[in-house]
Amino acid sequence: MDLATVLLLHKSSFIVGAICFFYVRWRSGSTPGLGVLALGFSLMAIASTLAGLDESLHMSSDARTFWSFSLGANGYGLMAVGLFGLSRRQNSLRDWWPLLLPIVLTLSATITPWYLNNGLRAPVFNGSATILLALSGFVIARDFFRERLTARLGLSASIWVATSLSALVVVGFIFPDDAPLPPRYAFFLLIICHFAVALFVLVLVQERAEEKLIRLANTDMLTGIPNRQHFFNSLPKVLGAGDAFVLIDIDFFKRVNDMYGHDKGDVVLINVARTIAQSVPPSCAFGRLGGEEFSLFLRGQTQSSAFAVAEQIREAVNAVSLVFEGNQITPSVSAGVALWEAGLTEQNVQKRADQALYFAKDKGRNRVELFSSIGLTSSSPSLELRSARAG
Ligand code: GH3
Ligand code: MG
Ligand code: MG
Repeated sequence: MDLATVLLLHKSSFIVGAICFFYVRWRSGSTPGLGVLALGFSLMAIASTLAGLDESLHMSSDARTFWSFSLGANGYGLMAVGLFGLSRRQNSLRDWWPLLLPIVLTLSATITPWYLNNGLRAPVFNGSATILLALSGFVIARDFFRERLTARLGLSASIWVATSLSALVVVGFIFPDDAPLPPRYAFFLLIICHFAVALFVLVLVQERAEEKLIRLANTDMLTGIPNRQHFFNSLPKVLGAGDAFVLIDIDFFKRVNDMYGHDKGDVVLINVARTIAQSVPPSCAFGRLGGEEFSLFLRGQTQSSAFAVAEQIREAVNAVSLVFEGNQITPSVSAGVALWEAGLTEQNVQKRADQALYFAKDKGRNRVELFSSIGLTSSSPSLELRSARAG
């Protein structure tokens, strides 16, 4: 492939990247980093165009070389800034420091025309690109531990390959006879890396959007804890020995709404939900079923350990203190606990937890009851009372 074609493809890879970034930034609101990335790719496209132009233009060869060098170097700087912002999900001034290197190089080129020396300019330019790419690849990979998106792996891998190719170009210019890869081939492979970087940036934005949607679909908007759908989706297909349901209901919650208003009722709900979230064992599935009812699903329990978990939550909620209109409010919850037994379905166990909960309500509230301790039958008066209430 001749050099002119390689340069044309090189330029095209930046133009395609820039258009994609501008488009996605426009469609996605303002994803941090995308605008700067688009600007960086645009500068590199202009630099690549200038580098490939012949003498017929109204620009001296020296000026063309200067602009091609400085726009290209700063384009790589902006690419690093953009990738930092994209990776950290915020536009922050402290991410702009990668621009220092190209700015210093540009300033030095305005003071003395060292860039006119081809043997110096090419390795310095590609050396600077190598450093900036290496930094970007590092940041994208490091942040994988904070945000485990698969696209990060592809993106950092493409950037690392681009880093190695840039380094090979430097080696090729300094030791032309011993270069493992002629700069022209390294350039060609770099084009593929630019397309890969653009592709993985877009996939990363897409994966983020999908994660956000899943999170929203699984979260109760008022309290921020898992919602009913997520809770039921987290349950195992088949229950076994040691599986337990705990059903929790806030006591006399309607009174809070009636006395202080719905918004204060919401404050109580939020506080109780947070307290439950802080008190549940780490591996337990839990969620807000609706209204002022919450549920927990625990594995590997005995009657007493499941009771202890519920009791701990009850105590934690009862330690919450809120002040509305000068009055101190101490919310309380009642809870019903039931364990799986051979022959029971998931619905059977939940129904038992529900029966135990209503028994706790009938016995005065702010207490925990185990289904196995209450000896309820389906004709129990308290169940009839409950059915009447529900009806
Ligand atoms: P009990 O001790 O028997 O459970 O009495 P309770 O008042 O807590 O139960 P009841 O079922 O009579 O009332 C539940 C109330 O919860 C009624 C409803 O208006 C209120 N509620 C349900 N969802 C929300 C919500 O999202 N926010 C607020 N503020 N109130 C809610
Ligand atoms: Mg209630
Ligand atoms: Mg209720």
